Amino acid sequence: MPRKHILIGSFVALFSAQTSSNVPLFNDRGDNYNRFDFVGSTEIAEGAFSLEFRNQEESYFTGFVVSSEGVIVFDPLSDSAARTTIHQIEQHAPDQPLAAIIYSHLHTDHIAGARVLQAHFGNQAPIIAHQRTARFFKIRQVPFIVPPTERVTDQGAEYRFGNRTVQLNYLGDAHTASILVPVVPELKLAYVCDYANNDVVGWTDLPGIDLDEMMAMQRRTLDLNAEQVIYCHGGPGDLTAVERQISYFTSVSQAAEAALQKGLTEDQAANSIELTEYQHFANYNDWFKGNVRAFYRWHDSRQTAPRR
Ligand SMILES: [Zn+2]
Repeated sequence: MPRKHILIGSFVALFSAQTSSNVPLFNDRGDNYNRFDFVGSTEIAEGAFSLEFRNQEESYFTGFVVSSEGVIVFDPLSDSAARTTIHQIEQHAPDQPLAAIIYSHLHTDHIAGARVLQAHFGNQAPIIAHQRTARFFKIRQVPFIVPPTERVTDQGAEYRFGNRTVQLNYLGDAHTASILVPVVPELKLAYVCDYANNDVVGWTDLPGIDLDEMMAMQRRTLDLNAEQVIYCHGGPGDLTAVERQISYFTSVSQAAEAALQKGLTEDQAANSIELTEYQHFANYNDWFKGNVRAFYRWHDSRQTAPRR
């Protein structure tokens, strides 16, 4: 969930803006881009580690899997997080090479640390991502993002690293139409990022997200062969977290639609709707009203301009 998502679209403006405003985490070399503090690591399956970080806004999780041919790293987050990841690899898999980096999708708040990993391990490892992630960075040329070297289509792909397999699933177009969901079948382990999280409300007013497609992706996720999931927000859990996400968004959707039917304005809906059973979700106090607004607009647009 993307504190920096909007930065992509207004990249140049923000670079120039930082000289006159307080944007301490961002510069054009990316040295300080999205600074993270390391919280801790957990071995959640044999040779599979989840890593927790915090930035100014929220918790982020990523992870790595140790195979007999080296270490496979999921989203490398940022420079500072990648340095911590290197220390963790040295601790848990000493002298192992970097086998691959996998970008879950094109949002830079999740993938900016690849260059630090590559510099440390020798720039040899492939960077695997959806082909639209590769195309995005070919066009944008964001200086602190290492472009993918391996492109995966909507059909998905499977990579083998010694005794570990990484299946890359494409489950739908919501949230950038570039999300790959890695599954390591030998460990029944998955890594799920942003379109579903573990007891976290959606990011602000879910900008630009096709909400029907987002929930369809969540339902497809339930079919993955995974018993453990690293959620990039909310942390490790199992697929019941996705069931809770579906229940949550269904409840928000129904409440927003009911408010619309009663004639409430968007502001009135946002100010009056509470879902107390989800108040324990992370970021509820900050973003729940934004989620209500997103679904209110979604239903309103369906009413006034029904889909053909
Ligand atoms: Zn994202």
